[in-house]
Parts: sequence; C-alpha cells; structure tokens
Amino acid sequence: NGFVTLGLAPELIQAVKDLGFTQPTTVQLKTIPLAMQGHSASDDAARFIDLMVSSQTGSGKTAAFLLPVLHTLLTQMAQAEAKERSDFERAVADAAAKGEAPPKRAKRKDPTNPRHFAPAAPGALIVCPTRELAQQVAHDAIDLVQHCRGLRVANIVGGMPYQLQIAKLQNANLVVATPGRLLDLQRSMQIKLDQVQFLVVDEADRMLDLGFSDDLAEINQLTIERKQTMMFSATFAPRIQQLASRVMREPQRLQI
Ligand code: AMP
Repeated sequence: NGFVTLGLAPELIQAVKDLGFTQPTTVQLKTIPLAMQGHSASDDAARFIDLMVSSQTGSGKTAAFLLPVLHTLLTQMAQAEAKERSDFERAVADAAAKGEAPPKRAKRKDPTNPRHFAPAAPGALIVCPTRELAQQVAHDAIDLVQHCRGLRVANIVGGMPYQLQIAKLQNANLVVATPGRLLDLQRSMQIKLDQVQFLVVDEADRMLDLGFSDDLAEINQLTIERKQTMMFSATFAPRIQQLASRVMREPQRLQI
C-alpha cells in the first residue's frame, strides 16, 4: 500500500486500506510529507509549515489535510498517555518506598455529568464554507478515525439543534465547522479555540464568495499563535492570497 511510505500511524494506514485507497493521489503525495514536517519533533524550536494548496474537489484533498492532522493528534495522545502512565508508576513506587498507601488513579471526566462541564477544546479545527461540505469532511474524518482509540470528531454547522451539537462537542479532538455557528458557540463559551494547533481552511475561494473573510480572521485570532495553518483553494487568485496573508505566515505554496 502506497500510504505506508508516508510514515502515517498504523491505525490510519488500516483505515485507508479499509476505504480501498491503494495509492495516494497527487495532492496527498505532495501535501502529507510537508504538512508532517516538524510534527514529531520534540524540539520546541521546530515549527510546522503553513501551506497554501491549490486543488480541485475530487483530487483527494480532504484526506490530504485530514491524514497529517490525525497522525499528529494520535502521536500526541500516545505521548501524553505514556507520560501519565510513567508518572503514575513513579508515584506508586515512591509511595511504596515511603511505606505509604498507593496513590489513586485520576478519575476521568464524565461528560454526562453537568458538574464536570468544561468548554470543548479541540486540538484541530477544519473550517468549511458550507454545511454540506462540513458534513462531508466530518464524514471522511469519521471514516479515517475508525481504528483510532479515543480520537473524537465533531461537526458544528448552522441549522442543527444546538443541544445535540454541544453534547457531541464534549471531548472532541477534531472539529469540522462552518464559521457562523462556530463563532456562536465560541461566544457562548461552549467551545474554546486556544488549544487549536491545526487550522485548515477548506475551499477558501468559496469562503470569500460567501463573505466569511472577517469571520475567518476572527477565528484565526482566537487560536494560538504557534499553530499550523493549511489553506485549500481552487486558485491562487490575488484575493485568495490576500486572505492567506490575514491567516498565515509565509506559507509554502503547492500548485497541484
Ligand atoms: P476529495 O477531493 O477530498 O473530495 O476526494 C474525492 C474522492 O476521492 C472521495 O470520495 C475520497 O473518498 C476519494 N479518495 C481520496 N483519496 C483517495 C485515494 N488515495 N485513492 C482512492 N480514492 C481516494
């Protein structure tokens, strides 16, 4: 399988196999290695590359941005889990050495308990111009995370009941959203964006056509400075580049 050489996590390789993808498409071959550069570096100085990619619908662009983002979220979760385990083992050993009772494991939050409520804080955010596209992208993401334990995807779009979306947002690692509803939920403090390390703007040209330029700039402001932004668009027209300059620093351009 041609995805193996891209260095993706085995859970993701299995998912693309299940979907029947045998070879990465051109946009996937060009985007995934660049998008993953610096992802696994433990060096704090390492920085992800911002990308601006021109590609058409049907080119496989959705998996081109989802796979590297999911790969890194998985890697980070595995590292956090390993650290939690080793900290706990050390605490158990310390307690035993001092003849004290062993420590208790930290309790997991219960999302159904309203007293445990905390705003959702996803690590990755995909912004799409329309509800249909956001639903399609979320659907593709759910297909890709089917073997990834603990990685949750939520979809935030206008025209859906708030309560249902809020419930699904809890514990989401990756959120796929349209700008208006996302900002609504941010303002009502159901979601905070200051943990977003990966921001993807899909179909940036349609985003502009629909007048979402200011919303996008606002969303960008709410996320952390040190993140990776990827923008996908059918063209690199000057107005798209202007938008890019509002949300990215010296992006690398990929013309597919
Ligand atoms: P997109 O351009 O992201 O809308 O993708 C177009 C279609 O191609 C979708 O139905 C994907 O499931 C499919 N697809 C994406 N990547 C691959 C691949 N490497 N091999 C075969 N089909 C793919």
